Amino acid sequence: MKESQNKFKCLNCGWISSEDINEEQPEHCPNCLAGIHTENEEGYECGGILEAVGIWVKTDDEWMIIQRCSLCGEMHLTPVRKRDSVVKLLSIASKPMSSPPFPIDRLEELTRIMGGRGNIK
Ligand SMILES: [Zn+2]
Ligand SMILES: [Zn+2]
Repeated sequence: MKESQNKFKCLNCGWISSEDINEEQPEHCPNCLAGIHTENEEGYECGGILEAVGIWVKTDDEWMIIQRCSLCGEMHLTPVRKRDSVVKLLSIASKPMSSPPFPIDRLEELTRIMGGRGNIK
């Protein structure tokens, strides 16, 4: 069996494309949305994993994936593609809501401290 050169294998999650990707190598993995940091600011090859850390809704029909390099910490933007995993996209987009940076069970107390009527009695 002839191994295709056009198959994409993700170095982060090991995902392999089931069909040839005839366009240029995808800049990020459709399964985990991670990519490889090929160049840093000085133009050197970094080789770190660009982990998807957030979603930026630029316009209604253009979403960007915010990636952060695990090696050098550089932030990177990559446009969302049609083949990208919707489940993964939504899980990244909803992360701040499922684990907010403040304690949600203390909301009543916080509201009271701020002078609001936080009492539920
Ligand atoms: Zn992947
Ligand atoms: Zn890097």
